[in-house]
Amino acid sequence: MKFYRSRTQILYRYVPGSIFEHDYFGTCFVTDVNVNAPDKLNTSGIQRILSAYLDLWAGFGDDAFPDPYDEWSEYKVGIPDRVIFEPFPPIVECSRCGHINDLSQLRNQPLDAPTVCSQCGTGKYRQLQYATIHNCGKLSPIPVPKCPTHGDEYMVFEDTGRFVTAYWKCKKCSYTRGMPRYTCQCAFSRAVASDSGEDYKKNMQYVRTNDTSVLYSHVLPIVNLSEESQEKLRQDPQAHYLLLAKLWSLFDRNIFDVARERAATAAQSQGNAQQKELIEALKNQIGDNVSANQLLEQLKKTSELPERENIDRVKSLVPRLTSTEPSQALLEHVAILESLDVIDEAQVRENVDSRNDQSGLYDLDQGFRFARNQLGLQDIWCITDFPIAMVAVGFSRGSKSIGEALLVPFRPSKNDGGKVPLYVVTSNTEGIMLQLNPLRVSSWLIENNLTGGEYPLDDIESWAWCKNMLPKLSEFRGITNAPDDLNIAEKATITLLHTISHLLLKHIEWSGFDPESVGEYILPETLSIVIHSNNYSSFTIGGMVTLYEQRLHGWLRDSYNAAFNCIYNPICEDEGSSCVGCLHRQYNCEGFNQYLSRAILKGGYVPDLSRNVKGYWMISHE
Ligand SMILES: [Zn+2]
Ligand SMILES: [Zn+2]
Ligand SMILES: [Zn+2]
Ligand SMILES: [Zn+2]
Ligand SMILES: [Zn+2]
Repeated sequence: MKFYRSRTQILYRYVPGSIFEHDYFGTCFVTDVNVNAPDKLNTSGIQRILSAYLDLWAGFGDDAFPDPYDEWSEYKVGIPDRVIFEPFPPIVECSRCGHINDLSQLRNQPLDAPTVCSQCGTGKYRQLQYATIHNCGKLSPIPVPKCPTHGDEYMVFEDTGRFVTAYWKCKKCSYTRGMPRYTCQCAFSRAVASDSGEDYKKNMQYVRTNDTSVLYSHVLPIVNLSEESQEKLRQDPQAHYLLLAKLWSLFDRNIFDVARERAATAAQSQGNAQQKELIEALKNQIGDNVSANQLLEQLKKTSELPERENIDRVKSLVPRLTSTEPSQALLEHVAILESLDVIDEAQVRENVDSRNDQSGLYDLDQGFRFARNQLGLQDIWCITDFPIAMVAVGFSRGSKSIGEALLVPFRPSKNDGGKVPLYVVTSNTEGIMLQLNPLRVSSWLIENNLTGGEYPLDDIESWAWCKNMLPKLSEFRGITNAPDDLNIAEKATITLLHTISHLLLKHIEWSGFDPESVGEYILPETLSIVIHSNNYSSFTIGGMVTLYEQRLHGWLRDSYNAAFNCIYNPICEDEGSSCVGCLHRQYNCEGFNQYLSRAILKGGYVPDLSRNVKGYWMISHE
């Protein structure tokens, strides 16, 4: 049996191993999902986040997955298309006499027709809506105990609505017994320490088939920027400096145009060199000549690579830069702003002004002023075609928390020769990108004695300062991949970015978004955060643009205020100012709630730094 569902639905609710209610066939179990090949996919992005996720689950199922880098060919990445399923659980009960039967015993009957009871001959069988699961990923029909005298032929299920009080009874002799308990012999049970008093965790657990704990699909978001466009830029031998010059706003032109011109000029300059030699030779014969000199001057100009001066300026500011290879985060940051549809401050002003909306314009001004003065931001953009891919990497049962269950890879499809499936759904959504002010960040780090160094004087100097003082921020994107050996200033910086990101996410309901449908993407090196929607449902279309154009001030103000409070105070305060009441997110936290503390903004003890700091939002700047 098979059917089609929306791709996003499949990702969350119809992956292999899940149970669902079918209008016609009753309760069913997904055995397979057919996929189509995706056309454009940021493969390295998937490898990166899967690898980081498996690291988090180390010891809890990670070894069942092929290595995302070395064994990538053992994965099959596909866009879900068709769901294959069969009825489950197979245990059925007669609606009249309670006779228990097994669907697999009724093979001669069509599975989709209500079958008549073999014992009373009149009642219809219906599925018992229960199953047993274990946190290792196992799922079984509930066991039917036997009567010592009559076997299982007359056993009926006395459903009290609660597993602790429900029981089994033999209709012939009134033998009764409770729901059988049994332990699962598996890797998860072995991981439960025998002296922990948590032996119950080894037991199979009874659940209703519609219980959410039956299956948690683990879906991770990645930014699906085209690697192709980045490649052209990457080939420029000065790409790293050119990108930094762009990040530091040293030039306005589109960086991809500049890179193309630089490549063309470099190719041409070889020809120019030959011409130059010819002219010089000619000059030697005919003496100094005005036209020849003009020609030489012109040749010199056309062989000069565009933006050379700015590149030289960057080089002088970061003399210790060792790698000529730009980081992926830097490339992505620039690619987002230079190759996607982006509304910037000037554009949004124009949009609002063209509607003759004077109060809107006033509000917008207030918003940007608040962002700069109170929040220490430098820039805010709105991206109207932000490319996102959601990747379902595996599932767990009983719990979706690390250490409470095993992460299990999806069952390979019959068509794909044992390859581990990864289901992916790509879409263009909307996002808002925010960048911290590098001068504020560097001054705050110095003022907190988190680093030495001189106070930088302006934006360019402070960008260079960050590049020199926070070198490891270039090594990762997101939070999950943060190396263990970050220096304290680097840790403070990502805690700052991540905490601001969560406050903004928490208050995004302002724009009508379900908080679960928005995600974050953090680019530490460029001091930037992207808040994006994860799907492009009709409800959310335009929501981010509206937020940016019409509710910026309110959104930023609410997020700011939220840094100073938590419903779980004073407990939250004592435990590092980060908890479910204020900062933690259940879904779509790409850092899985690491590196979060309101204290980084309002001042106080920051656990990740093991010390007190003056808050980023508490240091006055004029
Ligand atoms: Zn019956
Ligand atoms: Zn188990
Ligand atoms: Zn009996
Ligand atoms: Zn809290
Ligand atoms: Zn997060």
